[in-house]
Amino acid sequence: MGTFEAIAKHGGHEEVIFCHDPDVGLKAIIAIHNTALGPALGGTRMWNYKTEEEALTDVLRLSKGMTYKASAAGLNLGGGKAVIMGDPKTQKSEGLFRAFGQFVNSLNGKYITAEDVGTSVNDMENIFMETPWVTGIPKDFGGSGDPSPYTAHGVLMGMKAAAKWQYGTDSLKGMRIAVQGLGNVGTNLVKYLAEEGASIIASDIDPVKVKMHQATYKIDVADSDQILFAECDILAPCAMGAVVDDVSIQKIKAKVIAGGANNQLAEPRHGDMLRELGILYAPDYVINAGGLMNVFVELEGYSHERAWDKTRKVYDNVWKVLEIAKRDGVGTHRAADRMAEARIQTIGKLKQRHQGKSSRNFTTLREVNNR
Ligand code: NAD
Repeated sequence: MGTFEAIAKHGGHEEVIFCHDPDVGLKAIIAIHNTALGPALGGTRMWNYKTEEEALTDVLRLSKGMTYKASAAGLNLGGGKAVIMGDPKTQKSEGLFRAFGQFVNSLNGKYITAEDVGTSVNDMENIFMETPWVTGIPKDFGGSGDPSPYTAHGVLMGMKAAAKWQYGTDSLKGMRIAVQGLGNVGTNLVKYLAEEGASIIASDIDPVKVKMHQATYKIDVADSDQILFAECDILAPCAMGAVVDDVSIQKIKAKVIAGGANNQLAEPRHGDMLRELGILYAPDYVINAGGLMNVFVELEGYSHERAWDKTRKVYDNVWKVLEIAKRDGVGTHRAADRMAEARIQTIGKLKQRHQGKSSRNFTTLREVNNR
C-alpha cells in the first residue's frame, strides 16, 4: 500500500512528517491526525519495527486514537503520535533524541510529545533540550512526572461510575475486584482500591511484583492465565491489550470491565458481544485518560491539585458514555466514539467561526510559561 493510500485508510491525517538524520541514526514519523480541538498531543514510541510500513501503520492508528481520547476527555487537545524506528534497548543516544526534538520543534507547537512505550523521562529530557513542546519531563523542570498515579485515579473514578450504573452503588467497599497486571497503573490502582475497602484479587506474570504487593496489601493472588476469569464483580485489565477476544469472552464472570489497559477489545465486535452478554464495558480510552489530563495541566503550568481534580471527571465521562449507549442502543465502545466525534464537530465548528482562534491558546501559554 502506498503512503497516501495508508493515510486515507487510517482516517485522513492532517500532516505526516518523516524525520531522517543519518548522522545519529534517526528514522522517525510524526503523525498529526486532527487539531480541531487544539494542538496534537501524543507520546513518542520507540520500537524495533520490522518495516517502514509497519511503523507508518502504527503511528497513523495511534495518533487517530489520541484524537478520540482527548476529545472524550473534554480536553482542548488534538491527536498526534510519533514513532522512532529502532531498538530501545540498544539504539538510544542523546543525539538521536535531540535530533528528534529539533523535528518536533520545527512544528512550532502543532505537535506536543510525551513518553510512550520504549521511551523514558530521560529521553524526554533530551528532547526538552531542543524544544519546549514536550511533556512528562521531570518535576524539577516544571514537568508533571510519572502519569500513572493519575491514570489509576481516573480508572478508579470510571470504575465507580460503572459500578453505580451496574450495581446501583459507587462505593467499592466489599466489592470483589480482579486486577490484571501490577505495573505502574495496576500498583496505584490496587493502593486506591485497598483504601476504598475493596476485596482484591490480582495477578502479574512477574512473581517479584506479586510478592511485593502481597507484603503491602491484603490481596488474593490468581494465576496470570486465570485472572480474567476470576469470580468477581469488576475486572480491571491493567496489562496488555486485546484481552477480550472470542475465547476469553465466554469465560469472563465479571459484569463490569473497567481497567487501565489500552485496546482491551481484540476487535470492535467484541464490544457488541459484551453488550449482548450484559457485561458493562467502560471504554479503555475514556477510563484511562487520567494520564493525558495530567500532562494537559502541565501545559497550563503544572499543579498536582488541578491535575488530581481533573481526573475525577472520568466519572462523568464514563457516565455520559453509558447514557449514550443506552439512548442509541449500541455498545459502549461505539457510544464513546460518538461522544468524541460529536465534540470534535461542535467545538471544531465553533473555533472556525472565530477564525481558528481558541479562547485557550497553548502556543501562547507555553511561551508565557517560558519553558
Ligand atoms: P507496566 O509495563 O508498568 O505494567 C504492566 C504489567 O503487566 C507488568 O507488571 C507486566 O509484568 C504485567 N503483565 C503483562 N502481561 C501480563 C499478563 N498476561 N497477566 C498479568 N500481568 C501481566 O505498564 P503500565 O504503565 O502499568 O500500563 C499498563 C496498561 O495501561 C498498558 O496497556 C498501557 O498502555 C495502559 N496505560 C497506561 C498509562 C500510564 O499512565 N502508565 C496511561 C494510559 C494507558
